[in-house]
Amino acid sequence: MKNEPVDVLIVGAGASGAAIAWSLLETRMRILCLEQGPHLADKDFPSRDDDYELSRFGKFSCDPNVRGLKQDYPINADDSCIMPVNFNAVGGSTINFLGHWPRMKPSDFKTKTLDGVADDWPVDYATLSPFYDMNDQTTGVSGLAGNPAYPKYSPPLPPIPIGKLGQTLAKGFNEMGWHWWPSDVSILSEDYDGRQKCVNAGTCDLGCAAGAKGGTNFTYWPMLENAGVELRTECRVREITVDQDTGMATGVIYHGSDGQVHEQKAELVIVACNGVGTPRLLLNSKSKIFPDGLANRSGMVGKNLMFHPLTGVTGVFDEPMKGHEGPMACSILSQEFYETDATRGFVRGYGLHSGRSTTPMTYALGGFGIDNPIPWGDEHRDVMDNVYPYIAGLTVVAEDLPEEHNCVTLDPNLTDSDGISAPKITYRLGENSRKILKHGEERAKEILLAAGANKVLSKGDDAVWWRAGWHQMGTCRMGDDPSRSVVNGWGRSHDVKNLFIVDGSIFVTAGAVNPTSTIQALALYVGDSIKTNIETLFD
Ligand SMILES: Cc1cc2nc3c(=O)[nH]c(=O)nc-3n(C[C@H](O)[C@H](O)[C@H](O)COP(=O)(O)OP(=O)(O)OC[C@H]3O[C@@H](n4cnc5c(N)ncnc54)[C@H](O)[C@@H]3O)c2cc1C
Ligand code: SF4
Repeated sequence: MKNEPVDVLIVGAGASGAAIAWSLLETRMRILCLEQGPHLADKDFPSRDDDYELSRFGKFSCDPNVRGLKQDYPINADDSCIMPVNFNAVGGSTINFLGHWPRMKPSDFKTKTLDGVADDWPVDYATLSPFYDMNDQTTGVSGLAGNPAYPKYSPPLPPIPIGKLGQTLAKGFNEMGWHWWPSDVSILSEDYDGRQKCVNAGTCDLGCAAGAKGGTNFTYWPMLENAGVELRTECRVREITVDQDTGMATGVIYHGSDGQVHEQKAELVIVACNGVGTPRLLLNSKSKIFPDGLANRSGMVGKNLMFHPLTGVTGVFDEPMKGHEGPMACSILSQEFYETDATRGFVRGYGLHSGRSTTPMTYALGGFGIDNPIPWGDEHRDVMDNVYPYIAGLTVVAEDLPEEHNCVTLDPNLTDSDGISAPKITYRLGENSRKILKHGEERAKEILLAAGANKVLSKGDDAVWWRAGWHQMGTCRMGDDPSRSVVNGWGRSHDVKNLFIVDGSIFVTAGAVNPTSTIQALALYVGDSIKTNIETLFD
C-alpha cells in the first residue's frame, strides 16, 4: 500500500524523535513520525491502580522480553551480563524512565585528548550548551544552579526536596569532604507550562499519570501534534529503502496498525529508535549497494555498544529513611570520582547516585534492576520490618568505554510479531569498568558509614545489575572519519546523504551520567544543523 510522500520521516517517537521533530517544526516541512507502539492514555498507566506494583513484573516491566507486547521486539541477551531495557510507545523509554537529568561534562567529549582513550566527539560541551538549555526549558527541569562540577547554567525550576535520605547521605559526603549536589531531574517541582507538579507518589517507572515527569508524551508530543506533525502509531518500520542508483534513502516499508505492509516515501529519513533499535533497523535494511546493512560501509553499525554498568551499596540506619517517598530519580549526585586520576588504576570514572528505595513488593522481589529477591519465611519478615524502612543506598554509575566486540547484531532465529529479525546483544564487562565499580563500591561504603549507617550491605561478588541496560549508546557512532564512524558531526550518515540518526547510538563515549538530556540536546543540535545547511543538505 502506498502513502502520500512527506518531506521528513522520523522513525521512533521517543526522546530523540520528539526533540528533532520540534526543532524542524519552523521549517514548515511536512513531518511524519512512525512509531511501533501506541499512544497511551491516562488510564493505561498502572500507577493509580491498587495492584500497580504487580505491573512492574508484567505489562509495565522495563524488560521487553517480560512484557512481550505486540509492539515490543524480543532481545536476545544470552551473551551479555546486562539486559537492555526500554519502552515502546509514544514517548519511547521516557514513559518508564526515572527523569534523572544530569548533563555530560566537558571532559566527556574529549577523552582521547585528555586521557588517551576512545575518541573525541566531533562536537563539544560548549556547542551543545544552548541546546541543553533549550531542552531543559521545554521539558521542565528542576535543579539547583551553581553546581561547581559544571560550567554555569540554571535549571528553570527549583530542585525537588532531597528528603531525609538525601540529607543523611549528604552528611556522609560532607564528613568525607567530597562533592555532592541535588540532582537535576526532568520532574516538575512546581506547576509548569500547563502541567501539574510532582505529587511524590514514587511510581515514576510506571508512566507518571500526573504528567509531572518529562516523558515526551507530556512535553513535546502535545505541542507537535497541535502544530500539525503527523504521528502514526502502531506502525513498525521493517526497512529503510534506498535508490540503488543514487544511493539516497527513498523512504521506508512499514507494518501498519491495519495489518497491511505500507510503503512511505520521504525526502529525508531520520532514525530515532534508540541504541538497540536503530542498529537493528539499519542491519535489517540490506540491499545490493548496502549488503551489510544500510549506512554500514564502515562496518561500525551495531559495534561499540556501551551501557552504564551499575552496582550499589546499601546502608542500614537507626532512623527510618522514608526512601520510597518522592520521585524515584536520584536525590543527590556526587561527581567526586568522575575524572581520570592515574593513581586509581583506571581511566575515566563514575558518579555516585543516591537511589531512593522502591515500593515494598518491588523491594521484596529483588528491587529495581537488581534481581536479588529477599528470602521467604522468618528472614523475610525480619528484612521488611527491620531493614527496608531504614535503608539508604548509593549507586555506582560507571563510564563504559567503547569496545568493538560489544555489539548489536541480528539474531538468526528470533523475530518480532511482524516476523522481522530481532537484535542479539554481545556484551562483556570491560576490565576498566570492573575496576571502576570496585573502587566506587569501596567509596560508597565509606560514605554510608560516615553518614551514620550501622551496617552496609553490598553484593560484593563483582556482579553488575542485570536488568539495568537502561542506557544504550555508541552503536552508530559520530565521527569525522567515515571508515570509523557511521554519522558525521551533525548526525548525517557518511554513506547516505539524506539519512540522519539522532538517538543514543551516535554517542562516541558514554560519560558516567544518564544520557537523555544529552540525547535530546544532540537531537536539537542535529535539527539546527539541518536548518543551517538546508541549501546544501545533500552535497
Ligand atoms: C526503566 C528506565 C529508566 C530510565 N531512567 C533514566 C533516567 O533517569 N535518566 C535518563 O537520562 N535516562 C533514563 N533512561 C533511559 C532513557 O529512557 C533513554 O535514554 C531515552 O528514552 C532514549 O531515547 P531514544 O530516543 O534514543 O529512544 P526511546 O526513547 O527508547 O525511543 C525509541 C522509540 O522508537 C520506537 N521504535 C523502535 N524501533 C522502531 C521501528 N522499527 N519502527 C517504529 N518505531 C520504532 C520505539 O517504540 C520507541 O518508542 C531510563 C530507561 C528505562 C527503560
Ligand atoms: S513521583 Fe512525581 S514524577 Fe514520579 S510518578 Fe509520581 S508525580 Fe510522577
